[in-house]
This record gives sequence, C-alpha cells and structure tokens, in this order.
Amino acid sequence: MESKFFKSRKILDRVTLISGLAGEQCYLIEGEEKALLIDALSGIGSLKAFVRELTDLPVELVLTHNHVDHIGAAFEYGKALIHPKDIPGLYEMGDAASRLGFVNSQHREGGPVIRPEDVVPATPIRTYPIEDGDVLDLGGIRLEAIHVPGHTWGSLVFLDRAARVIYSGDAVNANTLLFLGGASIEEYREALIRLNGFAEACDVLWGGHGGMSVPFSIVPDAIELCGEIMAGTDDAVPGDFLGRPALYARKKDPFFRRFDGGIANIAYSRDRIWKHQIRK
Ligand SMILES: [Zn+2]
Repeated sequence: MESKFFKSRKILDRVTLISGLAGEQCYLIEGEEKALLIDALSGIGSLKAFVRELTDLPVELVLTHNHVDHIGAAFEYGKALIHPKDIPGLYEMGDAASRLGFVNSQHREGGPVIRPEDVVPATPIRTYPIEDGDVLDLGGIRLEAIHVPGHTWGSLVFLDRAARVIYSGDAVNANTLLFLGGASIEEYREALIRLNGFAEACDVLWGGHGGMSVPFSIVPDAIELCGEIMAGTDDAVPGDFLGRPALYARKKDPFFRRFDGGIANIAYSRDRIWKHQIRK
C-alpha cells in the first residue's frame, strides 16, 4: 500500500514493513488478538490512519528507542511502551520541528511538499515501561524484549522465536551511531555479547532503516569492531553524520558498504569509548 507519506509491504505472513519519507522503517505485527506496531516513524502525515487501513485489530505501540525518526506517531496514539531510560529524551528531542528537520535533512528528491499541518505535534503521552525480558503476547505471536544499551541507553530489540527474527531498531546495523549520547563502546560491547547469546534463536534482524534484513552474524561482527575500537586497531576513518563529526570503525563507501565484506559498522567518538568517560 502507498500513500503520500508512507509505503508498506509484507515481509512475513503477519508482518508489514512501513516506511516513511526519509526511509525510516517500522513494523506492524498482527497476532490473533492484537497488533503490535514496533516504532512510529517521524510523524509526518498520520501513520495511525495508515495503519488503520492495514488492520482492524487493536494496535499497541512499542518504541525501540526515543529518536525523532522512530517516535512520531506516539503522539497520535497517545501512549507507547518504551524503556524507562529513553522516556526523558522522547520529550527533550521529539518536538515537531526536530522531527521535520530530520526528514528534510534526508535526500528525498521528488518527495511531496510537507505542510505545517502534516507534522504531528508533540503532546504529553502515557509511557508504559518495558524492560529486558518482558514478553508481548499478541495471540499466537510472542515478542521478547532484549535491552541493548548503546545507540541510546534504553534501546530495545524484539525477538520473535517462532519466526526466528529480531526487530532491532537502530541497535546494530551498517551505520550504528554510538556518538549521540548513548552508552560507551565498552558497555555496548557487553550488551552485544548478551544479544549474541540469542544466536541460536534468530536468523535475521530487521532494523529501522535500509529496506532489507541483515543476517544475525552482524552481531558478532559488531562485537569484534567494539574490541578493535577499544584496542585502537580499527580504521578510525573520520566522517560525519547529520553534520556531527564521528569516526567510522571500518572503511566504507558512501552507501555504508564495507570494503572488506563485513556488515556492521560503528560511528563513534573518542570521548565515549570507556565507561569511565561517560556519566550516566
Ligand atoms: Zn536512532
């Protein structure tokens, strides 16, 4: 299905990927009793109305983390499950201007004109805490929350053991941003080692960007990179993202493809490598 602001396609029997204007992605998972929306895009246009066209089930919203391109429709639904550590940032960074600014900063040639009234305003919402180990039961489909602090302190990923899939938000991908105020590389590595403990239960990760799944091997790949960053043996290529300087652990092309064939990459800052450098 396609509208002015959203596109959707089925990726699994009961799972629909929905993308927004900046290519940001969320997932609608339909159980027998209710549907779960994992993430909420940037809030340009009504995602709630779009989802209503896709399912008649009651919809619950859960956020992988609090960034502008994942939370927009939370302000339409008026409630969301989110890790407690990411609740303050939801309001501090999630205002309408920041969300619109993000979408406009992305290449979207030929995209629709965005009018001020298209942007979902930020309003107080009910936040329900969800933590590591919590299970969301949709009737016939169960999703297990796994806490992966790194990209943000409260980043969560969701494992569907039956489908052997993890919905991973921005927790680990080909352009994992670790310089935006989340955990140190040292703590991120610890979180990834825990996540790697689920290797037997999962084949692929579907994340918040990129249009396709990545194999679970991206997790051990990223663990290795963290170790190299800590040892000072990574490529440490100067780069930037959205105008903020960072170092990339591995050489890559403009499309975030590594030259050495690996998948994971990490953009980091030298003042956020070790636990002791960061005050929680
Ligand atoms: Zn993010």
